[in-house]
Amino acid sequence: MNRRLSTVFAGSTEELCALDHASTFQLVAATILSAQCTDERVNLTTPALFARFPDAPALASADLSDVEVLIRSTGFFRAKARSLVGMAQGVVGRFGGEVPSQLEQLVTLPGVGRKTANVVRSVAFGLPGLPVDTHVQRLSLRLGLTAETDPVRIERALNAMIPASQRGAFSLRLILHGRATCRARGPRCEWCVLADFCPSAPAAGPPDRRRPARPASPQRTSSEFSGDRGETLHTAPNGTSTKLMPLAGNSDSKLGIKRRRPAQAAFLTAG
Ligand code: SF4
Repeated sequence: MNRRLSTVFAGSTEELCALDHASTFQLVAATILSAQCTDERVNLTTPALFARFPDAPALASADLSDVEVLIRSTGFFRAKARSLVGMAQGVVGRFGGEVPSQLEQLVTLPGVGRKTANVVRSVAFGLPGLPVDTHVQRLSLRLGLTAETDPVRIERALNAMIPASQRGAFSLRLILHGRATCRARGPRCEWCVLADFCPSAPAAGPPDRRRPARPASPQRTSSEFSGDRGETLHTAPNGTSTKLMPLAGNSDSKLGIKRRRPAQAAFLTAG
């Protein structure tokens, strides 16, 4: 599966990371800002923030109000400003100005949870780390990788399936695939490179592999709509329409995804 996704989302963990940064410290700060915010918005915000506060010592001594002004557009700016300054003070005060690489130490920093810590470990340090965000949660369930819904349990389940050296890149590829194709509402199964072995794919059959994955559109397109009964109509480029009806007892039922076979982890190594 990772190999299949890498044909669409190529590159190393560092290259797959969408957050602009020039140091490990800046990656931590950018990841904190990315909560409930798009990477694009974060990347528009951090140049001014990092120009004024480029490293931990600078941000540790910043006035909260100055930071708030600079990050306001990312949302939850007061809480994020407290996390950023607190994180910087923690790095300076407890770790000698260097961001630690151990997960147990990272999560002691304000604003740094397990997901952020795993981003930092995998992207900045090249260490095993599998961030589980909302996309990884959703795709893990749809792909039948695990029935767990708790992020920590999902991380453990996926860790058991993925070689340590590939965990970070696999997570980032799932995130990118979740944004572009396996979207929360209106997954584009007809474009999906995983459709031939995804248990949630429509029963119509595998996709035409010659079709490239299309980027996500911020707007719902005219090729998709949800009907009164919750069904979703997918219209392929050739004009063929497929109506997907919701199934009872399926967490994705409102999305009209049918599970066509039981969960299976073995296909992680397929393709
Ligand atoms: S086939 Fe559909 S549900 Fe399965 S991973 Fe692809 S887009 Fe998601």
